[in-house]
Amino acid sequence: MSKIIVMIGAPGAGKGTQARLLSEKYGYPQISTGDILREMAQSDTELGRELKGILSSGNLVSDDILAEVIKERTSRDDCSSGYILDGYPRNLNQARLLEDLAVQQDRSIVFVRVIVHMDSLLRRLTGRRTCTRCGEIYNVYFRPPQKEGICDVDGAPLAQRSDDTAETVIRRLEAYKASTAPLVDYYNQDGRLVEVPGDLPVEQVFEKMCGLIDFSAS
Ligand code: AMP
Repeated sequence: MSKIIVMIGAPGAGKGTQARLLSEKYGYPQISTGDILREMAQSDTELGRELKGILSSGNLVSDDILAEVIKERTSRDDCSSGYILDGYPRNLNQARLLEDLAVQQDRSIVFVRVIVHMDSLLRRLTGRRTCTRCGEIYNVYFRPPQKEGICDVDGAPLAQRSDDTAETVIRRLEAYKASTAPLVDYYNQDGRLVEVPGDLPVEQVFEKMCGLIDFSAS
């Protein structure tokens, strides 16, 4: 049965980085709802403008919009053998909708939680910079590029996400605590939750995570 790998964890826990590595290893596409919504917010339409406002506030986008986005994206051909969700579900209602979708698509779900202490998250988020071309992720405190503001991979400029400023970061962490943290109990009930400590170096987190995913699937 093909698989859905769901990454959960606070903003800044490294879900995106780990999802990218998993995507390379398993050949599943990485579906980041944050990336999709940021792209949608660029369009000069009513929806685009509405999304732009919500994203820059750090609040969550409505479940209806997310349900549409996920349904459309996961029905594309590249998802046929499985996919990785990064940033979805983010509340209980979305989690239930995903269960229904998995049944419809005849897929099993593995939930991976990356755990990082709250005090590290703030530096991770406010220090984060992303390559404007290839999407490579850096951090000015923990993983600076060789040349300030420039991507090591392709030499393109790095940018800070507009919602990685201190004020919005606090709002996002609060939204996480209120809406997403309760999902951990929900997923813990039936043993489908795999937990990895996210404070270790990226490669070690990845190694542990792969071991647990393969074990949970066997
Ligand atoms: P992220 O890049 O995952 O931190 O997401 C950036 C922003 O996109 C969040 O602060 C939310 O406003 C929105 N967003 C992403 N995924 C979801 C989701 N599953 N439900 C609601 N809003 C979301």
